[in-house]
Amino acid sequence: MMTINDSKANYYISLEDQYGAHNYHPLPVVLSRGEGVYLWDVDGKKYFDFLSAYSAVNQGHCHPRIIKALVDQASKLTLTSRAFFNDLLGKYEAFMTDLFVYDKLLPMNTGVEGVETAIKLCRRWGYEVKGIEEGKAKIIVAKGNFHGRTMAAVSISSDPDSKGGYGPYLPGFIEVEYNKIEDFHKAIQLPDIAGVLMEPIQGEAGVFVPDDAYLQEVYALCKENNVLFIADEVQTGIARTGKMLACDLLDIRPDILILGKAVSGGVLPVSCVLADDEIMMTIKPGQHGSTFGGNPLACAVAMEAMQVVLDEKLAEKADYLGKIFRSEMQKLVDSSDLVTLVRGKGLLNAIVINDDEDSDTAWNICIKLAENGLLAKPTHGNIIRFAPPLVISEQQLLECCNIIRNTITEYSA
Ligand code: PLP
Repeated sequence: MMTINDSKANYYISLEDQYGAHNYHPLPVVLSRGEGVYLWDVDGKKYFDFLSAYSAVNQGHCHPRIIKALVDQASKLTLTSRAFFNDLLGKYEAFMTDLFVYDKLLPMNTGVEGVETAIKLCRRWGYEVKGIEEGKAKIIVAKGNFHGRTMAAVSISSDPDSKGGYGPYLPGFIEVEYNKIEDFHKAIQLPDIAGVLMEPIQGEAGVFVPDDAYLQEVYALCKENNVLFIADEVQTGIARTGKMLACDLLDIRPDILILGKAVSGGVLPVSCVLADDEIMMTIKPGQHGSTFGGNPLACAVAMEAMQVVLDEKLAEKADYLGKIFRSEMQKLVDSSDLVTLVRGKGLLNAIVINDDEDSDTAWNICIKLAENGLLAKPTHGNIIRFAPPLVISEQQLLECCNIIRNTITEYSA
């Protein structure tokens, strides 16, 4: 296998190759340390992180305040299960519901568990509140979505790699074309619709940003038709797009909000679902849960991680720096035949390469970027996502724009 550093890196890569399942195709870089916007590989080479673990590390690697919260709590109490109360879960729930203005929070661990929870809540609400006949509730989902890897999430995926070979799939979903309002108008007229599940920006699809009017109209139609609007903000949330939530950019308040990833600053798997009582109280004791969900370690880390986002004004930073990044990339689009488009919001952006979806151009450019000290990952053969930790400074961002520009120019030549 090709590696950028063929010394120690080869050893670690061969270990994973021999003993690990082959369910990922990482860039051949073996990382062993992170601090802020920087990562170091096992041979000591330093990189700018332009992926942030798929937007989980918005607060930067090993943020000292978050790590302190982790270490302090780890020596007191880590896990009780929900068989008992603990002295942090209530505080965390109060903190988050106050911040996002919902009645209640349901804690889970990974993003996809948040999605599963939202689907369950939506179906429950459909039966108990809306009065849909048991077993008939439908949820509208968007083509090109990525909601994770469980059976429910792959059942609603339109990506053959994520979905293929895992059937039979979960019924009860209706797929619409994303950003095509006519399609949505038809779907919402169908009987027994309980909810609509969408990402406000489709991250894995290549940072696909729909028209503002599209989601605003989807939301308005949900309200008109007594249908719940569920926002999967696992990737777009927590200041990534220049506001605390991408929905805030559109003045939309989801009925069910799913958060994950950066809720913990990438330190632990922490996800949650927020909703008001009419929805949340449809799930009663024993009807849903998770051994680790709401554990005191996660609560301590998440409260500190969220406070860091507020104290360091990361949403405002993402908004300001995102504009600079897109304008620098636009210069590249204007001057290069290889890059055709830059798109995104805040510091969730992507460039589109002038090649087909299945080409290996984006991959090859990412290899060159890594050689030049910047780590990014293609989302498709022709799309590269750029999502640095939000703690990046303006000077560092401009340095990274130079690396990207020089790499693309070199590659084109
Ligand atoms: N939803 C969205 C929008 C995501 O981008 C992801 C992961 O990338 C998930 C859900 C799943 O999160 P996790 O991998 O933590 O289960």
